[in-house]
Amino acid sequence: MGNWKEVALKKAGKWPPGVRLPIIISVHHQSEEACVMLPDGAVDPRDYYERSYGGRRGGWRLLEIMNKHGVMGTWIICGATCEKYPELSREVIKQGHSIAGHGYAHESPSDLHPDKELEIITKTVRVFEDKMGHHLKGWRTCAASHVTLDLLLKNFDFEWDASVWNDDLPYIIEGHGKHFMEVPFSVYSDAAYSKGAGNIEQINRFNTWDMNTPDCVAQIMRDQFDALYERGAEQAVMMPLTVHDFITGRPSRAKLFDDFIGYAKQHEGVVFTTHDEVRKWWLGNYEAEKLLTA
Ligand SMILES: [Zn+2]
Repeated sequence: MGNWKEVALKKAGKWPPGVRLPIIISVHHQSEEACVMLPDGAVDPRDYYERSYGGRRGGWRLLEIMNKHGVMGTWIICGATCEKYPELSREVIKQGHSIAGHGYAHESPSDLHPDKELEIITKTVRVFEDKMGHHLKGWRTCAASHVTLDLLLKNFDFEWDASVWNDDLPYIIEGHGKHFMEVPFSVYSDAAYSKGAGNIEQINRFNTWDMNTPDCVAQIMRDQFDALYERGAEQAVMMPLTVHDFITGRPSRAKLFDDFIGYAKQHEGVVFTTHDEVRKWWLGNYEAEKLLTA
C-alpha cells in the first residue's frame, strides 16, 4: 500500500531520561462535523444539536480541566469547526498546544476520490493559515484512504501524522523525497466505538455516544494506563488519550477525564505532552542511528 516505506530503527528507541510514559491527550474538536444524515440526505437535527455541544461547551470544559492540571496536549480540529468556533481554536494555539487538521467537515477519505481528498486537506490547511495565521505541522485523518499518506507526503510539509492505529510507538515513514513521523493513535479512551468496533455504520439517530457509562470508560482509561505504565518500566511505550469535545466534554465524562489526569499524575515518570514534542523526542533515536538523510 502506498509509495512510501517505514524507516525502522535498528535498536529499540528510548524516551528522554526521566520519561517513563508520555501521555498525549488528543482532543478531537470536531463538534457537529460528523453528524448523522437522514435517509433523504438532510442533517439529522437531533444528532446535530447533540454534537454541537462540543463546540459550544465541551471543548472549553476539556481545556479548563487541562489548564487546572497544568497539562498540554494536541488539539485535532476540523477546518469547519475552526471557522465556526474560532475563539477556542485561537485560545489553544495561543497556549502552545500541538494542532492537527482533521479534515474540513470530518470527511471519510476512504470513501473519496484522491483528488477530492487532496482538495479537502488543502482547504483545511488554508483555513488555519487564513483564519488563525497558523501553519499546520500535524494531520489526523478520519478513516484514512489507501493514498492518504502519499498525499500528505507528496503535497505538504507536515512534520507528523496520526492517522493510523497500528502501534504503541511512533515511527518515521518516507516517500516522495520527504519524511514525517507517524504517531499512531487509539480511540479506546472515550465513548467512541464503545458499542464495538466494526459497527460504526450502525450509529444512527437513536444510537449515538451514550451507551457506555462513565464508570466503564474510566475503567478503560485506567486499565490502558496501568498496562502501559507497567510496560514503560522495561521498554518505551506511549499513551495517546483520545477524547472528543462532544463526548468527554459532557460533565459526567469530563469528571472522569479530570480524575484520570489526577490519577496518572501521581505516577513517577508520567509526562503529559504533545505530538510536536513526542516527534522531537523520537526523532532523536533516528538521528542517533544516522538513519535520516533529508
Ligand atoms: Zn474525528
